[in-house]
Amino acid sequence: MGRILFVGGGVVGTCAAMMLANDGHDVTVLERDPTPPPPPDTAWDEWDRRGVNQFRMLHFFLPRFREVAEAELPGLTEAMVAAGALRMNPLVGVPDEFTGGWRAGDERYDLVTARRPVGESIIADVAAKTPGVTIRRGAGVCGLLTTSGPDGIVHVNGVRTESGDDYVADLVVDAGGRRSSMPEWLRTAGSPGPDEMIEDCGFVYYGRHFRSADGSIPPAFGGLLQPYGSVSVLTLPADKGTWGVGVITSSRDADLRVLKDIEAWEKVVHAFPLVAHWIDAEPITDVKVMAKIEDRQRTYVVDGKPVATGVIPLADAWACTNPSLGRGISMGIVHAAVLRSMLRETPLDDPRTLAMRWSEVTAERVEPLFADTLAFDRHRLAEVEAAIEGRPYETEDPSWLLGTALAQSVMKDADLFRGFLDIVSLLDRGIDVMSRPGFAERAIALADPTPLPGPDRAGLLSLVGS
Ligand SMILES: Cc1cc2nc3c(=O)[nH]c(=O)nc-3n(C[C@H](O)[C@H](O)[C@H](O)COP(=O)(O)OP(=O)(O)OC[C@H]3O[C@@H](n4cnc5c(N)ncnc54)[C@H](O)[C@@H]3O)c2cc1C
Repeated sequence: MGRILFVGGGVVGTCAAMMLANDGHDVTVLERDPTPPPPPDTAWDEWDRRGVNQFRMLHFFLPRFREVAEAELPGLTEAMVAAGALRMNPLVGVPDEFTGGWRAGDERYDLVTARRPVGESIIADVAAKTPGVTIRRGAGVCGLLTTSGPDGIVHVNGVRTESGDDYVADLVVDAGGRRSSMPEWLRTAGSPGPDEMIEDCGFVYYGRHFRSADGSIPPAFGGLLQPYGSVSVLTLPADKGTWGVGVITSSRDADLRVLKDIEAWEKVVHAFPLVAHWIDAEPITDVKVMAKIEDRQRTYVVDGKPVATGVIPLADAWACTNPSLGRGISMGIVHAAVLRSMLRETPLDDPRTLAMRWSEVTAERVEPLFADTLAFDRHRLAEVEAAIEGRPYETEDPSWLLGTALAQSVMKDADLFRGFLDIVSLLDRGIDVMSRPGFAERAIALADPTPLPGPDRAGLLSLVGS
């Protein structure tokens, strides 16, 4: 057991901190934002979290988050539900003709979700009460304490905060999110720093939150993420009769930038009959816009050697993508569980082995999820841009073609329905679902390419006066 420091106490950092403390490690979380979590009832209005740009954007916690949390952090999802988070199962309420009725095992699609500030405030409260976890807020890290390892590799043995305090540790976990400064600190300390893949994901989000008068959530007619040619629409249930609705466009789509105005945004959502009813309720925000969202991946083992030892990147600090599939937190908690397992078998006093092993287990267990998400994003962006130009999107990539066939056949077969749920819940990878005997063939045979009802591109532009 050792002393472990987390740089960053966001939603995944705190989950990982709890897992490691439950294994007996002495864990300190250094979080730059000074404000402690308010009670869940006031977190949405009051919690100031400048360190997380997307804090009040649409968020959804997938079934995979619930599955890992229940296995690794007993009591967490119960605490979330007790404080108002929504526990639901996407199969409930869908007519039996589509689902074949409830089956043993369908509880795997259960999920526990909330607006991000509400969900995170509950997780932070549970973490603060977890023996072995110390959370210091207002403790911004600004650099590293390092030594030179035997092979000349920079070894990190602690961090320095903006107020000049030094914290020494056996392992520093970078949970500083998508904008983590760790690469810069490593370079300042003489390391080459990680290799970094970075590109603008190309999407822009126009999101709003709503509340019902009676605590109910609107019925879903179709998936939570619905593609409509050059835009996608997200409808995400949340805690205490609240939910988010988002319109996602290409960031190059200048004609639709008008969606930042409430009137244009409402006209567009009202034009899609499967989702229009989601905005006939009390809005609790105006339209929040988020662009310049990066796809990013940092590689800490380059040419077979760690760029540094004593430090590892976790969750968004390792890799992050366009969030339209709502996977970031779920992939992050999977990564956290992988960290906990690795530390059960890899000694902290062998930093080089630990750095190499982290890279291996990340590549085996989490990178495929990241790669699938990135592939989806790239195809969808290309499809959106084709729709803007008025041409069909053409690709020979079988995984995209099969995924499209599945999305178009999902309501026609109960097994296809569940296979689709397995993928969007992040419970199984598309490649594994598609290899089930006869599955892909059935999806192709039943696919109905009729687009979901709503305006075409010209109709959309005329609605917003572009
Ligand atoms: C628009 C948008 C919508 C999203 N929607 C979803 C969704 O629906 N579902 C989903 O699962 N995911 C979603 N995501 C992704 C999700 O927000 C991230 O995957 C998640 O926040 C990652 O958690 P984390 O703990 O790694 O990092 P973060 O939550 O970003 O936390 C990082 C923390 O580190 C702190 N920090 C940074 N630097 C320092 C420092 N130097 N010293 C101390 N502290 C520091 C920050 O203050 C912050 O608290 C969305 C992302 C975006 C951009």
